[in-house]
Amino acid sequence: MTGGGSGIGAALVRALVDAGAHVVVADLDEVAAQRVADEVTGRADVTGTARAVRLDVTDAAAVQAAVDDVVARGGRIDLLFNNAGITFGGETEDLALAHWDAIIDVNIRGVVHGVAAAYPHMVRQGAGGTAWGGHVVNTASMGGLMAAGLITSYVMTKHAVVGLSLALRTEAAAKGVGVTVICPAAVETPILEKGHLGRFHGRDYYLKGQGVRRPLDPDVLAAEALAAVASDRPLLVTPRPARIAWRVGRLAPAFA
Ligand code: NAD
Repeated sequence: MTGGGSGIGAALVRALVDAGAHVVVADLDEVAAQRVADEVTGRADVTGTARAVRLDVTDAAAVQAAVDDVVARGGRIDLLFNNAGITFGGETEDLALAHWDAIIDVNIRGVVHGVAAAYPHMVRQGAGGTAWGGHVVNTASMGGLMAAGLITSYVMTKHAVVGLSLALRTEAAAKGVGVTVICPAAVETPILEKGHLGRFHGRDYYLKGQGVRRPLDPDVLAAEALAAVASDRPLLVTPRPARIAWRVGRLAPAFA
């Protein structure tokens, strides 16, 4: 679980451990990752486990090493959640080139690094489509399906994640590997204040643009996401106002 130390990633870790999974909480913020792992580990009522590692998803070699370590320890990798993401609020004319590079590095290259490291293992595990190879889950955003009123640089990166996910899905299916892309509207996590709300037109403007009254609870999103993965749904859009349903229908009718 990349970005497992906070927000949506932390909620997904809780839900996965509750379901009995053995999860690596991988985050740039090692302290936060350890806090999440400590929170869920050792509870008498669950068989799942979590261990924390410091991981920068922009470092391809480190992502490969983390994935290989999972395979070395457990014999296989069942799930990869490419969830780490960043945003920069504000107007595009105020964005330095270094910010563009940074958001591309984390939100696009970070996902590519995860796929490049884990997908070949999963294809091998899928044994030519005769076995379950594993499942890749990418956290995009509703901003990966629509653009108006959202942050340009962020929308660009999340459209890339949606495109990568839906294309890979069609290729991976024959090889026994599933792919799901999660496209939530606003979720109540630190990223909202850090970027989307704090420096961009304010909370009401941002929420209205997405057709929602209030941000989603990350634990509710995590439960919906795991249900989507369990039923091998390609695309989870939540909540799904009418105009998003329309957009999804036009963008990717096969996935609507
Ligand atoms: P968050 O800021 O609470 O968590 C993001 C986590 O990613 C943090 O723990 C951070 O340390 C980690 N991270 C950042 N850069 C990293 C790097 N280079 N390597 C490894 N870890 C790194 O935000 P969140 O809302 O939980 O975001 C999770 C994902 O959900 C992101 O991809 C975000 O774009 C997406 N998303 C969020 C919302 C929302 O409204 N919160 C909506 C749609 C999609």
